[in-house]
Amino acid sequence: MAKLLFYALGACGGCELLALEQELVSLLEDHEVYVYPLLSSPPGGSFSFDIALISGAVLNQEHQEFLRDLRARSRFLVALGTCATHGGIPALVNERRPEERFEEVYPTSFRQEVLKEGLPLPLPYVKALDELVKVDVALPGCPPDISYVLKTTQDLLKGTIPKFRWPSVCETCPYERTGKRNVRRLHRLLAGRDHPLKERCFLEQGILCLGPVTALTCVQGEPPLCLAAHMPCRGCGGPVRAKANPMLDMLNALVGNRIDWRSWPDRKLILAFAGAHGHLRPLKGPQCR
Ligand code: SF4
Ligand code: SF4
Ligand code: SF4
Repeated sequence: MAKLLFYALGACGGCELLALEQELVSLLEDHEVYVYPLLSSPPGGSFSFDIALISGAVLNQEHQEFLRDLRARSRFLVALGTCATHGGIPALVNERRPEERFEEVYPTSFRQEVLKEGLPLPLPYVKALDELVKVDVALPGCPPDISYVLKTTQDLLKGTIPKFRWPSVCETCPYERTGKRNVRRLHRLLAGRDHPLKERCFLEQGILCLGPVTALTCVQGEPPLCLAAHMPCRGCGGPVRAKANPMLDMLNALVGNRIDWRSWPDRKLILAFAGAHGHLRPLKGPQCR
């Protein structure tokens, strides 16, 4: 009987809900499963796990300590969801220096307040799990499709580490790419006079779609979820390659579509889910990369 842990660091709790999926519950009915919701603490001491599925990004020193401790006590560690693999939404704050983030909201110095209240100190930058510990399986997706979680769990229970190759969102997109690249600038969806054509690639119509640089982790072998609802991909599946630079890759995709890169919107839109690994940093000042 294996011991599995579902635990969340800085997260929305969405990935943790995967532990309640019926197929996973059935697969694990003969095993010991520990689910610790947000803001709770995992069992400490010498208690060890065969598989730890950890969602969320690393925001503060407490997260960092928990993560290192759980790594030491787990045979396999899975980074579950885009927050854990690439920083996700929490890493959007990396665009600002830590003192700016807090002093804009709190009347006194956040550091003083944190020390006074005994709260965990925030890290200078929000991090993905693999920036601090060894990750055996990275499962991006917001949340990942349950089929990937099932395959990972089945393989790890047999002692095998699964390998995934994510196609890009474009690969199963049903929209037509005509090759006619006569739009030179990006514009906001619904901001123009004309509603975008339903059957035509968004990028070819000058609407930002992160399909070329995003891993298809929201579904398996089906039209991507947002495209099926006639919305462009926002990149929640994480970068299509593990070590990719989504900003650079998207720049290439724009140039390939003959769109003036200077018309692209706020860089946060490109890195909204992938701000860890040093991709999103303050533009000015000594920490600028
Ligand atoms: S990856 Fe998405 S669903 Fe999972 S914790 Fe992060 S924001 Fe929530
Ligand atoms: S850029 Fe977007 S709309 Fe165009 S093919 Fe890729 S996913 Fe589909
Ligand atoms: S289409 Fe893109 S933004 Fe939408 S769910 Fe899939 S990966 Fe996420």
